[in-house]
Amino acid sequence: MARIVIAGDFGGTNLRAALVTETGEILVRHEVSTTPDASPDGALEGIGDLLMKVRDYGSELPVAASLAVAGLIDGENGRVLASPNIPAFRNLGLTLPLSERLGIPVLIANDASAAALGEFRFGAGQGTRHLLHATLGTGIGGGIVIDGRLYKGTQGLAGELGHIVLDTDGPPCGCGSRGCLEAMAGGIALGRRAQRLVESGGAPILAEIASGRSATAGDLAEAARRGEVAAIAEIREGGHIIGIGLGSIINVLNPDVVTLSGGLLGMGDFLLDPLRAGLASLAFGPAANTPVRISTLGADAGLLGAAAVALAK
Ligand SMILES: [Zn+2]
Repeated sequence: MARIVIAGDFGGTNLRAALVTETGEILVRHEVSTTPDASPDGALEGIGDLLMKVRDYGSELPVAASLAVAGLIDGENGRVLASPNIPAFRNLGLTLPLSERLGIPVLIANDASAAALGEFRFGAGQGTRHLLHATLGTGIGGGIVIDGRLYKGTQGLAGELGHIVLDTDGPPCGCGSRGCLEAMAGGIALGRRAQRLVESGGAPILAEIASGRSATAGDLAEAARRGEVAAIAEIREGGHIIGIGLGSIINVLNPDVVTLSGGLLGMGDFLLDPLRAGLASLAFGPAANTPVRISTLGADAGLLGAAAVALAK
C-alpha cells in the first residue's frame, strides 16, 4: 500500500499542514495563522491540533510527520533553536511531545533544506543525484542533496548558502559577518539598494512606486518591468552576485543541477540572465554548463519539502 505522510510548513505567517502521498499528491490541507506572542505550550498545542486534524482525515494512519520550519533547527534532537516567525520556538523540543500526541514519528527540518529535498523528489530536480537548491527571498538559504540524500552536516546547519562571504568589506549581515551573499543580494539587501537609488534621484519611476515609504525589492522589480534602466541595472548586479556565489559552491559540490525558488524569481530574466552568466563564468570546465532550473512546486513547495523529509525516513 502507498505510504502517506503528514507535512507541516511553518515558514511564513501561517502554519500549514497537509496529508501527502508518496507521489506528492496532497489529499487534504488545513492552515491557521501564527500568533507571534504565543507561549511555547500554546504554540505546541496549536500545532498539535492542526496536525491531528490532518491525521484524522483518512482511515489510514500516516507513517510519519515532518515539519519544515524557518530558522536554526537541530533535527537530530528534534529541537527548534530559534525561528524568526515564531518567537516562542526558542530552544523548544518539538518532535517528542508531538510524536506522543500523534502516535507516529515526527521530524523537523530547516525549511530551505526541506525545499531542496522537495525539489529533488517532486520538483525541478527529479531524476538527478546531486542537487544544490537556493531559496532567494528576503534572505538567501539553501539545501544540498548528495546521492539522493539531504546533506545536513554535523549540527544540521549545512546549506546556509546565504552566509558565504563574497566581500569582507561588504555590508553587515544579520549573522554578524560582513559581505555575506545574503547581505549583498538577498531581498532585504536589494530593497536597500532600491532605497539608495531613490535617494540618488536617478530612478523617477521607482521613486513614484515607493512614494511615501522605503523602497523594497518588489518595487525594484516593478520599476524594472516599467522599463526603468537604473532599476534593471541594480537587479542585474544582484543577479550577478548570486551567480558568483552559486558558481563558487558549484566548484565545491559539482552538482547535477541547481534549483531555485523564492520571491526574487519574480524579477524574471532581469535577475536570471546575469545569475546564469555569473555562475557559468566562475564554475570550472564542464561544470559551467550546470543547468539552473526554477522550482516547479509553486506555493506547495514548503509542504512537499516537508513530505519529502518524512518519506526519506
Ligand atoms: Zn551572513
